[in-house]
Amino acid sequence: MSLLVVGSVAFDSVKTPFGEVDEVLGGSATYFSTAASYFTKVSLVAVVGEDFPEEHLNFLVGRGINIDGIERSAGRTFRWKGEYSYQLNEAKTLDTQLNVFESFHPNLPESYRKVPVVFLANIDPNLQLEVLKQVEKPKLVACDTMNFWIEGKLDALIQTLASVDILIINDGEARELAQEVNLVKAAKKIMAYGPGVLVVKQGEYGALMFNGETIFSAPAFPLEQVFDPTGAGDSFAGGFMGYLATCNEIDDVAIRQAVVYGSTMASFNVEAFSLDRMRALKQEEIKSRFQAFKALTAFENI
Ligand code: AMP
Repeated sequence: MSLLVVGSVAFDSVKTPFGEVDEVLGGSATYFSTAASYFTKVSLVAVVGEDFPEEHLNFLVGRGINIDGIERSAGRTFRWKGEYSYQLNEAKTLDTQLNVFESFHPNLPESYRKVPVVFLANIDPNLQLEVLKQVEKPKLVACDTMNFWIEGKLDALIQTLASVDILIINDGEARELAQEVNLVKAAKKIMAYGPGVLVVKQGEYGALMFNGETIFSAPAFPLEQVFDPTGAGDSFAGGFMGYLATCNEIDDVAIRQAVVYGSTMASFNVEAFSLDRMRALKQEEIKSRFQAFKALTAFENI
């Protein structure tokens, strides 16, 4: 099944304890679609400004991503600036410039409207809702968000949540959204808004999946080199949703495997700045790290 994503396509300026980059390719939809493109066909909806170089669009096309839904508008591309301390789990946002996203209203190409799997990546929840109104009975809808929108657009976000099957957010956002520090209690509160499945990303501590009946826990891959956590959450979501789009049945077994594929893609992404590691990834590397995850968590019963 093919996959539709709406989210940000951006210029990121990022500082970590290991280096610094200025105005490199980033954005929630960029990371998501690149990771998902290793699994399935992706159609991307976003807006870029006049300053967005063709080479970045060519990169997405080179990954087989359909960019008919990327609009080029007068103005500047979305920009995000963030910084990480040695505590790499959480970015400190220094600046968010919505720019062309401020006046963007997605108008989905005809070929996008029947796509069966939809991912609403981190973006204004009003835009997520506008996309949902234009798709025809998708089989699976998932979304992401962040504190910026939880604090600024809570009503629209709650409306979005009522229409999604799966929510993928990080632990801090889950606590903030639920106004509850205990993650198990927070999961219950969030699922009452709509999603039947909640995936809580915990940075280097892995991810938890709640489906109302069981809880699944996957570690993050213990890496020797972590350069830049930017996009880890979106690459996780890309691997997770990309894999689910290849499954005939989206049951507990598939969702658990998807969590591990998500962790696999996120683990590659953090090994370099921007999308540099994911640009050079091979299918064999994905398969072998997925297997390594299995070995990492396997133990004998007593
Ligand atoms: P993450 O996977 O959570 O590390 O997401 C990082 C990406 O999110 C960066 O490439 C940013 O361009 C993008 N981003 C940051 N803030 C926002 C926002 N408010 N809306 C949409 N995208 C954002």
